[in-house]
Amino acid sequence: MKLVIIGGVAGGATAAARARRISEEAEITIVERGPYVSYANCGLPYHISGDIQKRSRLLLQTPEGFDSRYAVKVLTETEALEIDRASRQVRVRGPQGEWRLPYDKLILAQGGRPIVPVIAGADGPNVFTIWTVPDMDRINEHIEKKKPSSAVIAGGGFIGLEMAEAFTRRGIPTTVVELTPRLMPNLDADLGFMIAQRLQARGVNVITGKGITAVHGASAEVELTDGTRVPGALVLLAVGVRPETRLAEAAGLALGETRAVLVDRTMQTSDPDIYAVGDMVEVVHRVLGRNVRMPLAGPANRQGRVAASNALGLPMRYAGALGTSVVKIFDAAASSTGLSESAARAAGLDAGAAVVVKEHHAGYYPGAHELYLKLVYDRGTGKVLGAEAFGEEGVEKRIDVIATALAAGMTLQQVAELDLAYAPPFSSANDPVNMAAFVGLNDVTGFSPTITAASLRRLREAGRSGGAPLILDVRTLNEFETSHVKGALHVPLDELRFRREEIPRGKPIVLYCRSGYRAHLALRILKENGFSDVRNVTGGFLSIVAEGGFELEEGGLD
Ligand code: FAD
Repeated sequence: MKLVIIGGVAGGATAAARARRISEEAEITIVERGPYVSYANCGLPYHISGDIQKRSRLLLQTPEGFDSRYAVKVLTETEALEIDRASRQVRVRGPQGEWRLPYDKLILAQGGRPIVPVIAGADGPNVFTIWTVPDMDRINEHIEKKKPSSAVIAGGGFIGLEMAEAFTRRGIPTTVVELTPRLMPNLDADLGFMIAQRLQARGVNVITGKGITAVHGASAEVELTDGTRVPGALVLLAVGVRPETRLAEAAGLALGETRAVLVDRTMQTSDPDIYAVGDMVEVVHRVLGRNVRMPLAGPANRQGRVAASNALGLPMRYAGALGTSVVKIFDAAASSTGLSESAARAAGLDAGAAVVVKEHHAGYYPGAHELYLKLVYDRGTGKVLGAEAFGEEGVEKRIDVIATALAAGMTLQQVAELDLAYAPPFSSANDPVNMAAFVGLNDVTGFSPTITAASLRRLREAGRSGGAPLILDVRTLNEFETSHVKGALHVPLDELRFRREEIPRGKPIVLYCRSGYRAHLALRILKENGFSDVRNVTGGFLSIVAEGGFELEEGGLD
């Protein structure tokens, strides 16, 4: 049995190791065009930042190591040029020239290629992408030799943000330019706002809603779509990655709707002898139920395991992906799983979201940090659809719990009932995950209906000509005077019972406080007093500010 694997990093290296564990007989060969095999591409930004000091720590396995431990032959600096499906051979070119490698089963784990936008100056010596160890080396060498006085990163996705931190840590004033209106466009606007705020607080210049149109090497500047220029002695393009499908396409393998390689649940392509995994394939989204591209390391590794098992006759299925991810932003983290509120809406779902702003562990125990957790659910079925979180501690722990709930197809009720570990240094007796489910349940049962800041903004925009709800701010006078939604009526929670006659009846009312809890109490008071159409802005004023698009006012009422 001859197993050939093209690509020797996340998916490919995992597949090779798994294949050997299944069979001692198989002849396993990895073909890798780069000089290294099984390296930690996710760790590259952290070597540039200085967090991972030793470059060698990124090289997880060597060809010699693969040979001695797994009896896997690794051909580095060897490129697969063509797949000849009829004769089951791969034409390769390496240091010894060109030859053909026969296979019984073939696994494609070729990953993707960073997109390089077609703009003037993109091929300049100061312009980089980061995908491989040599890419990282080139950037490091440029920083050491040229000592760039500024950097521009095109792309506000997770690689762009990690690199913004790395450059800042190297003392290079950095600008992140993102074409869409917010950073991390796969997350909701409120999360994008918090991420931008954190970067700005650490000295990163953030420009959204603009693209880069030219790199001017001579003046060390980058030109943006509106004609303005920003200093950019070093330019990093991190605008996305395209699946590496050329070989597969030329061999006539089927591609999917996203133009990535189409595979079934066993990771088999349209050819039963060829499997494909990782960034080059599209896989089923476990919440949406349709195929998506999910270029992340976890899915690539698990798919490698599945493909190798099936190729060697051990049946295994890939369950699909949720896109669970986390990104470090200096001393904070942003994390998500499943669908964002906007993605759920875009998919046509009747999505609600519960925002909880709560300390990551008991507030009375020293070192508590506020955590912003948003749980997205289907208002009709109560099924959990996804979650997003931002904060300094305990962020990914909550998202991982919700990822598990998503995999199990749980409802808000089931998440509310989760029995999670608690002691004051770690969590609260009601973990933020439980709390978010309580808020969601209160919404879907009608006990305490909520509205997200995004829905309120849309409602107000639609109701400009009349019919917009009355906005009631129930925070303290001090909070109100610092800043509030323009036109909001102000009645602090503690005065509401005595001043409820001031609130007009027969009109929809939307209440808010700082983060949602006081407005929930106020809402219950109003409901008990016969106000029927009342809703609480989940996440409160924090969400309103983070969502953007609201006119805010400072100072008291006239
Ligand atoms: P890759 O790991 O890209 O490997 C593909 C290999 O195939 C390459 O080495 C390539 O040289 C080789 N190849 C391609 N074509 C040929 C050919 N014709 N012949 C021979 N060899 C070929 N994901 C996360 O989940 N979390 C993170 O924190 C994270 N951080 C990242 C940071 C950076 C800087 C980068 C670049 C990626 C990061 N990722 C992260 C994404 C993650 O690394 C990828 O999703 C994952 O590596 C994909 O694995 P893969 O096996 O599909 O492809």
